[in-house]
Formats: sequence, C-alpha cells, structure tokens
Amino acid sequence: MLDRYGPDESYFDALEDAQRNRRGIWANDDNVHPWEFKKQRYRARRAKPKPAPQTPLFDVPETAMFCSMEGCDGQLVEKSGRFGRFLGCTNFPRCRHSRNLNG
Ligand SMILES: [Zn+2]
Repeated sequence: MLDRYGPDESYFDALEDAQRNRRGIWANDDNVHPWEFKKQRYRARRAKPKPAPQTPLFDVPETAMFCSMEGCDGQLVEKSGRFGRFLGCTNFPRCRHSRNLNG
C-alpha cells in the first residue's frame, strides 16, 4: 500500500508557525484547511474525468424567462411591435403569450 501523505516535518513546522502568527491563510477562518485542500486535490486527480456536459438543444441565456403558458416550452424574448417593446414567446404564433416589458 502506498503511503498517501508522507510525513513532511517542514510542512507541519511551517503550519504551526503560521498558526502562531495568524498570517497568510490563517488570517481568514473561512479558508479550507491545507490538509482538506490536499485531500480534495488528491481526489480530483484520482476521479474519473466527468463526461462532457450535454449540449443543450439551443443556447439558453442566463436571463431566459420561460413561457408561463401551460404545455409551452418556449421562452419569452424581447420583441418590438406596434405598441412598443414587449416580451413574446419564441413559439409564436403557435403560442401567443406575451408580457408587457414595463409591467
Ligand atoms: Zn409560449
């Protein structure tokens, strides 16, 4: 069996020193402890590469608003019409859902 983390005297010396002086990362209590970080890095190296994320059928902007009409999978996108700018469904004219931009 391999020794995952060999004893590293200088590492612990430095750690103790840092704790005493509360300097560097120890000044912030929210930081991940070095040994936790080490473990995470170790796991990350060992972990199998994740499968590529599935490509969405179409790009969905982060600000996308989905149509609230039942059974409609469209999104509300900004359009401009006779009465000014409004949000209309991408499934128009199949779906005539629209929303006033100002309201
Ligand atoms: Zn719709």
